[in-house]
Amino acid sequence: MKEVSQENKKINKEDDESEVFVHDKFVSSSTNLSLLTSKDRDFLLSPTGTQVKVSDLEGKVIGLYFSANWYLPCRKFTEHLVNLYDQLKANGSQFEVVFVSSDEDLNAFNNYHSLMPWLAIPFSDLESKKSLNRRFDVEGIPCLIILQPGRTGDGAAFRDGVDIMYRYGVKAFPFTDERLEELKREELERYESQTLLNLLAGHDRDFLLGHPTPKQVPVDSLIGKTVGLYFTAQWCLPGVKFTLRLISIYHKIKEELLAENKDDDFEIVLVSTDRDQTEFDAHFNTMPWLALPFKDPITKTLTNYFDIQGIPSLVIVGPDGKTVTKQGRNLINLYKENAYPFTEAKVELLEKLMDEEAKNLPRLEKHIGHRHELTLVSEGTGGGPFICCDCDEQGSGWAYQCIECGYEVHPKCVRAVESGPTSDA
Ligand SMILES: [Zn+2]
Ligand SMILES: [Zn+2]
Repeated sequence: MKEVSQENKKINKEDDESEVFVHDKFVSSSTNLSLLTSKDRDFLLSPTGTQVKVSDLEGKVIGLYFSANWYLPCRKFTEHLVNLYDQLKANGSQFEVVFVSSDEDLNAFNNYHSLMPWLAIPFSDLESKKSLNRRFDVEGIPCLIILQPGRTGDGAAFRDGVDIMYRYGVKAFPFTDERLEELKREELERYESQTLLNLLAGHDRDFLLGHPTPKQVPVDSLIGKTVGLYFTAQWCLPGVKFTLRLISIYHKIKEELLAENKDDDFEIVLVSTDRDQTEFDAHFNTMPWLALPFKDPITKTLTNYFDIQGIPSLVIVGPDGKTVTKQGRNLINLYKENAYPFTEAKVELLEKLMDEEAKNLPRLEKHIGHRHELTLVSEGTGGGPFICCDCDEQGSGWAYQCIECGYEVHPKCVRAVESGPTSDA
């Protein structure tokens, strides 16, 4: 990987020198800004189409945003970035974004740019777009390259803007290596000081709700247990479906632990975003586990702390109070009760078992829910995280996939068509 990027650097360096030479007349003080001009253009476009001088960006941190409207992950990231951009503008941060479009035509570009509050390289300037793509070796979109003002060489361009924006948001500004080191350190410290009590107890509340309501269960009774924090709401249909599955798996895990007479124990705590008390009560009444009280302020803290992007979501906290995984839902879907206790070691073991089992699965399968033949794929052969078209739940690792239309199901969800004579038989 390193060698490849060295190679690219070399190629790009030659490009740079000629570009800097040509554009020098517009911007002489900063190499980074000269990248945004061309030999006959010293401006960028605002979303309304007015021209903004590139030199106006002097001294700002610049996010060079490679994106296209036709690709869903781009549109999603744009939405996220608009939100962060507005926050950065509001707090006076010296930040600007420049959109480098891969849209199919001018109309699509204009529509997409109108959703963005920042500047863009004109759509017609193919040469600049191409040279920026080449210079930063952009292999996939969305891609956000962060340029530091007045810096050249190493540390001037930061490539993982998309990840950083998703992971840390505006906290990461000005997106320098130093700031990111600081954030990682903070994260580690927070992790080390994390306990069940500081996660789940409130200022004046040291209990959770149990059944029958209004039974109160002390938070410290969970210490030493593996605890699932279950973020969901009754208005969320996938949540309601997943709850049914989780209840049956919860009982199975409890039964197994009881039968094995082990010291460890499992509990789940509902962290609800139900809309009102009545809805919450009805919802919680369907569940055999504990809950944070309705509208408890900790709900918001936990949602931010674990960076919950959507519900239902299941975060697993270990007996020592540290986070084991945020992928609880996915693990339950893949491995059911066997996922317990959700640790890395357990997941590795389960993955190995699954790889073994997959060896015995047919490479092709006809599933009654789909008219085309499905092919067995793994992470390495075109698989990856997916939503199962049969049970609507997440999956990863092995899957049966329709190469033609992208239809994908868990191997366990395939119900084979009673095989009559096949076409090649
Ligand atoms: Zn499925
Ligand atoms: Zn198909």
